[in-house]
Amino acid sequence: MKIAIEGCAHGELEIIYNTIFEIEKNSGNKIDLLICCGDFQSTRNNVDLSCMAVPDKYKDMCSFYKYYSGEKIAPVLTIFIGGNHEASNYLQELPYGGWVAPNIYYMGYANVITIGGIRIAGISGIYNGQHLLHGHFEQPPYDSSTMRSVYHIRNLEIFRLKQLSEKIDIFLSHDWPRGITKYGNERELLRRKSFFKDDIDSDSLGNPPCMELLKQHYPTYWFAAHLHCKFAAIVPKNDETKSVTKFLALDKCLPRRKFLQVIDVPHNENIPLELSYDLEWLTILYLTNHLLSVKNSVNYMPGQGGIGRWNYTPTKIEKDNVLKKFNNTLEIPKNFVITAEPFNPQSSQDNFGEVKVYVNKQTTEFCDKLGIDDPAILLQIMSGSYRENKLNDSMNESCSQESELNSESLEVSSTFNDESILDESLDEIALKSPIIKPQINESETTESQENTNSSLGSNTKIFKRRNYSIYNNTI
Ligand SMILES: [Zn+2]
Repeated sequence: MKIAIEGCAHGELEIIYNTIFEIEKNSGNKIDLLICCGDFQSTRNNVDLSCMAVPDKYKDMCSFYKYYSGEKIAPVLTIFIGGNHEASNYLQELPYGGWVAPNIYYMGYANVITIGGIRIAGISGIYNGQHLLHGHFEQPPYDSSTMRSVYHIRNLEIFRLKQLSEKIDIFLSHDWPRGITKYGNERELLRRKSFFKDDIDSDSLGNPPCMELLKQHYPTYWFAAHLHCKFAAIVPKNDETKSVTKFLALDKCLPRRKFLQVIDVPHNENIPLELSYDLEWLTILYLTNHLLSVKNSVNYMPGQGGIGRWNYTPTKIEKDNVLKKFNNTLEIPKNFVITAEPFNPQSSQDNFGEVKVYVNKQTTEFCDKLGIDDPAILLQIMSGSYRENKLNDSMNESCSQESELNSESLEVSSTFNDESILDESLDEIALKSPIIKPQINESETTESQENTNSSLGSNTKIFKRRNYSIYNNTI
């Protein structure tokens, strides 16, 4: 299959799709997939634009909103990771990935998906040691600090990606793996970009955990963006396999810049070119849900020498159990939904509304199916806004008096240990009032309850609290 790789998109979707159209016309080949390596700028409206960490002069609505509103349809299946210039409030709706528009799929904080049997892993954001060990604590309205830290990568995602054991074909990151310039023509790079010299000399250019991931997995390809120049490198695996990772960074989307590259990757022709979940990744998400934190404090990952489990590479039985949760079908549902109102250029009113993260139905469905938590909901619970928004009649009917509450039915049990990965304030809220997961509609309410009660079990916080002793070494 033909895959087009794009460096930073910077909101220029129309230009990118027009370029692909020209390539298709000139080559006679159809492009099957477009991959963007961050700075995608999926801004739906002015609120999203206000959440993007760029100087005001770069706050341009560009063209994404047309694909979001349905005015235009992405002509080629597009996937992307997040960079450091994003509508972070929108991306926070889809922490495990999801459609930001029809035919445009965001990978989430980290993900592994497949298409035509090709396995694509990715991690969003950029490296900053200051926030690496923290939970995903940021939420809008962002201040100048959280507007930036929100896109800093976290150890949870690195840890999860390190549990993968099966071969990865393509790996995506926004910034470059630390030290990658040593594996390419560094001198020529410095001739074009002399201001990289100090960082290269002090070995501070790029993302250290990404180089660890590269040297653990040796994917066939690693694509990146961020530094706005084209650079290629080959990282050899020093063993008998003689395999290598081909690294390529691309420029941003500007005229006469090298922002697009087409590669031909052999795929399984018996599998349709549609996006699918990766079973190993889903199982890792499920098994490590208890490691999710939304606190602004250090969130350690388990390591060798601890009391309990520290290796979450899934067993076959664990993967089979997760496959059953997905009814043996891993196809990613085409369940895009509009959440915030799209920008309307005809309207004299600038749609500056409340800056918030919507609970996205795509994430709710995914989390209910797998039995894991939506960080956006955990954040709402912590801030108290969840209770205001989501307490509904069904809960009032079933729990008419607080004293009669059955703690087993609560999202957060009052008996839970203080060392919760959530803030103590959460337990206070739980003591005062029932907190339930949001329900989309009646039928889904039933479905999610069935899911939670099924023999396969849920790994959400309810599960976690009942089984705290299993995890206490990991927190
Ligand atoms: Zn960029």
